[in-house]
Amino acid sequence: MSKLLESQFLARRKHIMQLATLAAGFVEELGRLSANSDDYVPSIVTLLIDQARRARASDIHLVPTESALVMQWRIDGVLHSIAGFDRDLAPRVVARLKVISGLLTYRTDVPQEGRVSREFSRTEVRITTFPTLHGEKAAIRLFAENHQLQTLTQLGLPEEVESELRSHLAATAGVIMLTGPSGSGKTTTAYACLRDIIADSVGTRCIMSLEDPVEVAVDGATQSQVRPSAGFDLATGLRSLMRQDPDVIFVGEIRDPATAEAAFQAALTGHLVLTTFHAGNSAEAITRLLEMQIEPYLIRSGLRTVICQRLLRRICENCHGLAGDFLLVQTKSPDSERTADKFASPPAHRIACAVCGSTGYHGRLVLAEMLNPNSPEVAKAILNRLDAPEVARLAAASGMQTLSQRAANAVTNGETTYEEVLRVLGAINVPVKTQP
Ligand SMILES: [Zn+2]
Repeated sequence: MSKLLESQFLARRKHIMQLATLAAGFVEELGRLSANSDDYVPSIVTLLIDQARRARASDIHLVPTESALVMQWRIDGVLHSIAGFDRDLAPRVVARLKVISGLLTYRTDVPQEGRVSREFSRTEVRITTFPTLHGEKAAIRLFAENHQLQTLTQLGLPEEVESELRSHLAATAGVIMLTGPSGSGKTTTAYACLRDIIADSVGTRCIMSLEDPVEVAVDGATQSQVRPSAGFDLATGLRSLMRQDPDVIFVGEIRDPATAEAAFQAALTGHLVLTTFHAGNSAEAITRLLEMQIEPYLIRSGLRTVICQRLLRRICENCHGLAGDFLLVQTKSPDSERTADKFASPPAHRIACAVCGSTGYHGRLVLAEMLNPNSPEVAKAILNRLDAPEVARLAAASGMQTLSQRAANAVTNGETTYEEVLRVLGAINVPVKTQP
């Protein structure tokens, strides 16, 4: 929070100040609560969770500073400062969060984590606290309601990626790898794949999972959570699980060579293995497997496909985006006079938009690239242990639509902005982009 905001905040002598348009509803509702009432703090907590959910936030951060408790919401992957609470309220708000999630209120010196009891929230809400210089910081994760859980069709993957993925999901053996950095939506895609396999197999396939932790309960799958402290880790668990006669195995995430090895062994002995893997792009996933000492021939014969994905914020359809860059891209359109004028208008002319909270973005767009390890060029690259850029080049040459190409298309089609692509993917070439 800036010094100016802090001083305004103190001058107002109110319990809260609004930092962003997004917070308007929250601050208005809060104004109706009586600060003298006994359940003032519980009401604030209920309200902030409700309002954040309504704004489609995935996380709420409550950050103690020297003079205030600043609240931030993560919406479509981006953090926004929403409001600042009076400093005196900070420990009381955090204590209330601890009460509803069964944490120890008297321990403020150690990190704690828990889930909000069903009595206070119908849907899954997890809370973690962390001691900091100015007091405890709380992070609240809001999970989707059951009816919002997505199927493969609802994810919005590129059409050919989705249809090819479906054919891989119907296969009886091999590894399907979903990659991307954290926050790229790969876990959501993995759960959607599981639901699809379950729906299609109507009880004819034994579907088991090994996760760390189980993030979402899926009807129709037998899910297990590992306990490394008891010697039940992903690699050993996977070897035992094979004796349970599964057809499909979902391994939450491959993080080490032993798990990678066990997953490939499972794939080669007639199991379909679905897993997530941390990698910046699909070619990097291949070279990371090689670095984990998975032999090239194992990758060649065991790996069915690698999908790498990213989530980009979509331009708000209500206000058509407020970012200058979007308008800059529009200047290339043939009816240039009008759009050029639009570009000339300064940011001050930005309109207030209730749909996107004047952020210019609403919802997300999935970019995905799908690497086929069996295309002759890529297969050769794997056997020769070529480096990631070279694997990527050969995959693109053999017809893979890369993340950069898909991002460039999304900008050209007006679905997102170049700024957003820069934020998520870094600099890429947008061939049709022209200077004003
Ligand atoms: Zn808008």
